[in-house]
Amino acid sequence: MMNETGNDHYLLTPGPLTTSLATKQAMLRDWGSRDPRFSALTKRIRQRLLTLVDASETHVCIPMQGSGTFAVEAALGTLIPRQGKVLVLVNGAYGRRIVSILQILGRETIVHETTEDTPCDVVRLGAALEADKDISHVAVIHCETTSGLLNPIKKVSDTVKRCGRRLLIDAMSAFGAIPLSAADIQFDAVMASSNKCLEGAPGFGFVIARQTSLVESEGNSHSLALDLYAQWRCFEKNGQWRFTPPTHVVAAFDQALEEYLSQGGLEARAARYRENYGILVGAMETLGFEMYLDPEIQAPIIATFHTPADPNFDFATFYDALAEEGFLIYPGKITSVDTFRIGCIGQLYPAQMNEAVRVITEVLHTMGVSNCHAQER
Ligand SMILES: *Cc1c(COP(=O)(O)O)cnc(C)c1O
Repeated sequence: MMNETGNDHYLLTPGPLTTSLATKQAMLRDWGSRDPRFSALTKRIRQRLLTLVDASETHVCIPMQGSGTFAVEAALGTLIPRQGKVLVLVNGAYGRRIVSILQILGRETIVHETTEDTPCDVVRLGAALEADKDISHVAVIHCETTSGLLNPIKKVSDTVKRCGRRLLIDAMSAFGAIPLSAADIQFDAVMASSNKCLEGAPGFGFVIARQTSLVESEGNSHSLALDLYAQWRCFEKNGQWRFTPPTHVVAAFDQALEEYLSQGGLEARAARYRENYGILVGAMETLGFEMYLDPEIQAPIIATFHTPADPNFDFATFYDALAEEGFLIYPGKITSVDTFRIGCIGQLYPAQMNEAVRVITEVLHTMGVSNCHAQER
């Protein structure tokens, strides 16, 4: 059965996520990738993304084909010189992914790791930057989607700025829903993608890069296709993507952005996600589920729950039963404890969250799960 988004289920995931019907319908048209109308559409998207982070005067927006990781790898490989040295703040899988990329790229890397339930350590960061003048860049994840943890991006930025280094932010799962402004966060690059809080379809990422840094980055990249500098030059030269763009996805993103802006932009989106999150977490806690993170450091993007200890609970059975009722949830990614995740982003409103909670309650009842605590009590 189709719902109002033209789909037979809702995605309670961190992306790809449920898109609006109009966003999906925007993909029904075939575009000429070198047609001026498609170039105009690309230009509008690039300009709008810059204004979302108040970066029109200082930065440029460079879309990159592929998933979000492609944009992250392009930004790291292009903006960090080969003799650069990067301090990476890690508290989950996406921080670890940045470390892997840098190792493959052969950039010298220092890892500051905190546990997956602990924000990055800004004091330790400051001390390391003072002590080691060779560190040229710091990389951080804004919302670590592994858990839903929100890192203290303002404090990180202030520390990096005070020490005169450059900051790269993977804001993939936060962009558009958690405030980030070039006016008070000093960054060389912010990376995000089409299929998270801006609610487009998957198919490209984008980098908001400081123009002066980008100008210096010519020749840094190890890669032909992931060369952010070359990609930028091409957009500047003729307004076109360097290689075949995901035309349908770009058109869908233009529609999704239009909806984002007309619905009230970041404030409205953040308020809706917070409301979704409140409904979900309130009901889950009433059922006895325990949150993995302290609410103080939790972003309203995705919630991580401890797996119940009740022997009648089985994640695969729970997942399948919810899917049968039209809700796809997400497995856990925490390395130390058994968890699962439920996303609050995408075309989800209180009505869908209330329905999801009703279905979860019913499924647990059918499974014979009476105790949702993480430990037997
Ligand atoms: C989604 C996400 C990415 C990119 O993942 P892809 O699967 O490549 O799209 C990177 N970082 C964070 C924090 C994310 O949430």
